[in-house]
This record gives sequence, structure tokens and C-alpha cells, in this order.
Amino acid sequence: MVNRPPHRRQSGQAVLFILLGLVALVFFMIFIADLHRIIQRKDQAQNAGDAAALAAARWQGSTLNLVGEMNLMHILALAVPDDQAIGAITGMQARLCFTGPLAGLLAAQVAAKNNHIYVNEGMTSLLTEHVADIRNNYSVDFGNGMVFPEPWPGAWTEYADMITQIAEDGIAAGPDNMRTFDLDSDHILLDKAFYDAVNGYGWCWFFRHAYGLLRNYNSFHDWPPLPENESQNYANSEIFGLGLQPYTLPLKQIFTPDEAAALVNNYGFPNGQISPGALATNGVSDRIETWYYYRTDEWGAWSRIKSEGDDDFPITGPVRKQYDVAGADAVVRVGATVQRMSTNAGRTDSVVWSAAAKPFGYFDTDLGQESVTASSYLVLPAFRNVRLIPVDAATGSENSSADADWVRHIRGHLKNYLEHGTCVSGCKYCQTLAFWDKNPSITVAETTTDAQGNRKQTTVSKPFRQIGIDWLNEFSASCRQSSGGSGHGGGTRRGH
Ligand SMILES: [Zn+2]
Repeated sequence: MVNRPPHRRQSGQAVLFILLGLVALVFFMIFIADLHRIIQRKDQAQNAGDAAALAAARWQGSTLNLVGEMNLMHILALAVPDDQAIGAITGMQARLCFTGPLAGLLAAQVAAKNNHIYVNEGMTSLLTEHVADIRNNYSVDFGNGMVFPEPWPGAWTEYADMITQIAEDGIAAGPDNMRTFDLDSDHILLDKAFYDAVNGYGWCWFFRHAYGLLRNYNSFHDWPPLPENESQNYANSEIFGLGLQPYTLPLKQIFTPDEAAALVNNYGFPNGQISPGALATNGVSDRIETWYYYRTDEWGAWSRIKSEGDDDFPITGPVRKQYDVAGADAVVRVGATVQRMSTNAGRTDSVVWSAAAKPFGYFDTDLGQESVTASSYLVLPAFRNVRLIPVDAATGSENSSADADWVRHIRGHLKNYLEHGTCVSGCKYCQTLAFWDKNPSITVAETTTDAQGNRKQTTVSKPFRQIGIDWLNEFSASCRQSSGGSGHGGGTRRGH
């Protein structure tokens, strides 16, 4: 018999279709499960990152309040005057500038881990390597003082010990706006945005930040050398620093005895009432003392939150005057991974989330709410809450100090590149530099108009940097629009 009865064949086909349908359904369900897990992991990373940034900023805010209270206690002790108390107060302030931010680092780890983010080996080893750097290099004395002057004797060892304790438990939320003493600089090769601009044909970035570079660059010899120990700010933790500065000056240059006494008395220390007379007599207001101030270069207007030109990011409209102060903030980076079961089974997707938060404060005055620096840069207790802020509006967010690939590039590869033009294979940032130096010819589409006025679409081949020069000659006006990028898709880092 050649043919089976028709109904047998049909039922056989039906079974086959049902089987195929089932297989498709199983794959579809695994795919949905994958998608669900990726989305869930992303949510977890986002929650963890936000919680970690807020936890760190909360410590920044309360530490600033403590440093401010101690400025008031200092006035109180000066009224006696009690030299031992004064010494203890200023010594404690110096330490708080490190212990407070590092307590924030610890709190950020707890927050991230409570939100199901695991220890990140790359971030942990970055911090461990940095601790070794602090121990081995920071307090080296070449006969003319230490490489980085210590804010109190033995500070760098204590600082390294504190970070070690945190790193030993593993880092889950990496400090992403760290400002290390040796690389606090505005060298273009230390700016990640340059690499993004090269890779993404972000000509507008060049237009805004380095117009001459496209035109005048010839070879790696043209780069300025990396700065040597630019930072003068050793009073603050490199991680989540508070941006404070101890100044030595007499109290009378800050407040009149009446003002100083009113500040202390209004603050309401228990048993802490002083009379203006105590500060006016015996020359106590003339004594040279150490007071903790907001650094003017860090606590100025919060320009990063405001628009540049017509570029309306991160916010439109004015910032309320009491909040228009930059200063301390915390940026953290968390990473999570998901293993796929469906397409590309076994492949690991990684999710990275950066979040930034900042403590906010103000004074209630007769004129309404005033910013913490409105009347004086002396630190006083004024911080009330913390908020998430756009990453781009945070200080030092461009450092990406928790990004292991980036940090290895700027610390490990740049020096050799600047001396010999050599690149490290396997480093994407080095690859970008090699591409930039090679300046290869690239074929791009161009619209030309012939003598008869007919527009024609052609392709031309020209060096990479020349493409940028030509593009900006024609379209640089569009760089002022909020789109911010070129036709090739920007290269600017927005928000998260
Ligand atoms: Zn590199």
C-alpha cells in the first residue's frame, strides 16, 4: 500500500504541528523568562544604585553638619578659652573629613547588598590596588616633605586602614566620582567624553571643548604631559569628599562677638551659652585659629545642573536660590549579571547602573530660605535632606572611578602612550587612541550641488578628523540645539 488513508496522514501532520507548536512555545517561554529576569535584574541594579548613592550622600550631609557644629563648639571653647578643647575640636574636624565619607562608602555597600547586588571583583580589586598606592606612595618623603602632606600625623595609614576594612568585605557599589590626589586634573585624555566623541563621531563635543584639536593635531607628541600632583586639596577624602578647607584666621574676621555668641546660643548646646563679652575680652577674637570652610572652587554655583547655552539639560528653568550650590555629592556604580537560557544560551548579560545623590541644606532667615554659603563659607550645621540628582550634574562624575577598564587605562596605559605612542591591545580606550592617531580615511555620504544646481548624493573618502572639520564647517550651528549630537549619534553622556 502506497498511501495511508487520508485521515491517518492528517492526524500525523496535526501531531507534528502540535509538537512544533509546543517546541516554539517552550522556546518562547524561556525567552520571556530571560527577558523577565533581565528586566528584574535591571530594576534591582537601579534600586541598589540609587539606595547606595543616597546612603553615601546622607553620611556626607550629617558629616557636614558635624563639622559645622564643631565650628560652633570651637567658638564656645574660645570663650573660656580652653586650649585643650580647641585642639581636640580641630583635630576631630580633620579626621571627620575622612571618616564621614568612608562611613558613607560602607553604608553604600550595605545598601547595595541589601538590594541583591553581589560583590564586584573588578571594583574590589581597584580599591585594593588604590589602598596599596596610598600605603606605598602617599607618605613617601623625598627630603622636602611628603608627596601628599598629611592632614594629621599618621593620616594616610589610618585612611588606608579604613578603606581596607571596607574593601575586605567586597565592594558592590563602587565610588564613581572619586578624585584621587594624583589625577585631579582637566587633561583631555583623562576625560572619557573625548573617547566617546571619537567613537561616536560626536563632533559637537569637539566644537564645545576642543575645537582646535581636530584641526591642529598631528601626533601623540602634541598632547601635553600628564599633570604631576595637581591637587592641593589633601584635607578631604578622595572618595565622597566634602570639599572643605581648614583656614587659619582670627574669629573677628568671620563674626563680630555679638554674631558669634548669637550663633552658638541659638544653636542650643546643653549648658552652652556664652556672652558676647567673653569673646570681646582678653583678645580671644584676635587669636589665630583653624576654622573649617567650604572650598570656594567646589561650593560655588551649581553650574552643572544648569543649561549650557541652549542645551536644556539636565533641567530647564532656574534652580531655587537656596539650592544653587554645588559641593559634596556621591556617585556610585553597581553592576549585575544575568545568564541567558534562550538565544545565545549561557551568554552573560551585564547591567550597569550609575546613580548620584547630594545632600541639600539651607538657612531660615528674615529674607526667607538662604543657601548654606549665602552669608559665609564657614561650615555651619544646615543640611536637612538628600536627593538623587542627574549623574552629569554631580562633581567628578566624569571620572568613572569605579569603571575598572577606564581606571586601568588612565593609570596604567596613558603614560606609556604619551611617551611612545604605544597602545595596549585589548583596551578599548587604547584602541580609540590608535584610531585617532591613525586618522584613517572613511567613506561618507555627501550631498553635492553641480553647476546646474542639481543636488546629487555621492560618497567621498576622507580622513576621520577631516570629516569632523567639514561637518562642523557646515553644521556647527546645530551643536547649540538640545539634541547635542551629530547625525552619527552624539557621544555625550546624559543622565544615567
Ligand atoms: Zn588603555
